[in-house]
Amino acid sequence: ISTFSGRKVALFGLGGSGLATAKALVAGGAEVLAWDDNPDSVAKAGEAGIATADLRGIDWPAQAAFVLSPGVPLTHPKPHWTVDLARAAGVEVIGDVELFVRERRALQPGCPMIAITGTNGKSTTTALIAHILKASGRDTQLGGNIGTAILTLDPPAADRYYVIECSSYQIDLAPTLDPTAGILLNLTPDHLDRHGTMQHYAEVKERLVAGSDVAIVGVDDSYCSLIADRIEKSGRKVMRISRRQALENGLHAEGSAIVRSTGGSSETIADLAGIQTLRGSHNAQNAAAAIAACLAVGLSRDEIQAGLTSFPGLKHRMQPVGRIGHTVFVNDSKATNADAAAPALSSYERIYWIAGGLPKSGGITSLAPFFPRIAKAYLIGEAAPEFAATLGEAVPYEISGTLERAVAHAAADAAADGAPNAVMLSPACASFDQYKNFEVRGDAFVAHVAALSGVTMLIA
Ligand code: ADP
Repeated sequence: ISTFSGRKVALFGLGGSGLATAKALVAGGAEVLAWDDNPDSVAKAGEAGIATADLRGIDWPAQAAFVLSPGVPLTHPKPHWTVDLARAAGVEVIGDVELFVRERRALQPGCPMIAITGTNGKSTTTALIAHILKASGRDTQLGGNIGTAILTLDPPAADRYYVIECSSYQIDLAPTLDPTAGILLNLTPDHLDRHGTMQHYAEVKERLVAGSDVAIVGVDDSYCSLIADRIEKSGRKVMRISRRQALENGLHAEGSAIVRSTGGSSETIADLAGIQTLRGSHNAQNAAAAIAACLAVGLSRDEIQAGLTSFPGLKHRMQPVGRIGHTVFVNDSKATNADAAAPALSSYERIYWIAGGLPKSGGITSLAPFFPRIAKAYLIGEAAPEFAATLGEAVPYEISGTLERAVAHAAADAAADGAPNAVMLSPACASFDQYKNFEVRGDAFVAHVAALSGVTMLIA
């Protein structure tokens, strides 16, 4: 990062991406002073050649910028008062995404960048776009909130494509974010802990698309619909997407087809039929957004369709992992509450459902509309008695106790069923009563499936 060459920069937060940011700044010639509440992180930064100092005592007016690591919540007391010190001294407060967009502007303003935000579906859409680009042979860099720190990616170059998932927090700290295509998938009241009000949360998310050359906005909720109108009025190019309604201008889902309409005419631009990793209307929204972004950066229809068809899906999110006869085994371990389990339950017609773990308040009562799809439930962990009471007479169930027993019993029942079906782990619970985290739980599910006789695994 050369944009702060020869200037002083203060930085707080020395976790993985914070340390990567500090290193990138130092490599570009900035004079960095970094700090973290965790002494181990400070020590590690010191070993990596980063100058460290408690930021209370530093010469704030001399700093060109204060960089906050994306892992640090703004509500955290120390950065909060450090932010106050920076602001009082007139020092701008920014994050790693802002550093990246400035570098991009300085080095390669035309290099294609797609930024993705929204309440739900960010990671799926980000991974899908990156997959389509990669499958088409383009040099693709995938990062941001999805895992790889943006400043550890290869530097901007003419034919290099960036696909960046942005949290609200990263957008908040990126005042000049200006991607080629920006996606705002949806906005629902969620994550309000950090942003206070829905109004503020929506305003932050809007900034990502308001700064984009092409603004791709899901218009199925009222917040986003208003945002699309507002951006259009400002003179920017808007591509609306919808999973529910036909649009006069934009991309919408019609059965398995994604249809593009411009003025009077419509054409099918891609088809999701038979793509197991993109089942469900929530994924139609994600796919429509991904298609719109790929069109915006110049991909052909054939390239887009090929990438959609070969999308391997994300681990632990409605991921088809194995097959025996007419039964597909689905790992949706990421569904740690009832809301998160709903899309998976709505995406299959006949389900042998493995659920339970450490229960969350509200349990599974909100999932009652999906009960008719559940052939039988296999309950595990601490939530089993509570879930059994909710299922009552409506759904046949057994208390399996462990995931291993649940998989064995569900597989046997599914095999005896004459109709196509899914054995699905979509627990609607946290995992901590039996597993370290949802990833370990999902991996255990996959291992149990792989041990079934006659199984064909769908993942490597
Ligand atoms: P995020 O990165 O925004 O948390 P993910 O792509 O990881 O989202 O998806 C997490 C879960 O959210 C999925 O397992 C699914 O249950 C749900 N989901 C995915 N896409 C959407 C969408 N477009 N609308 C609503 N829910 C979605």
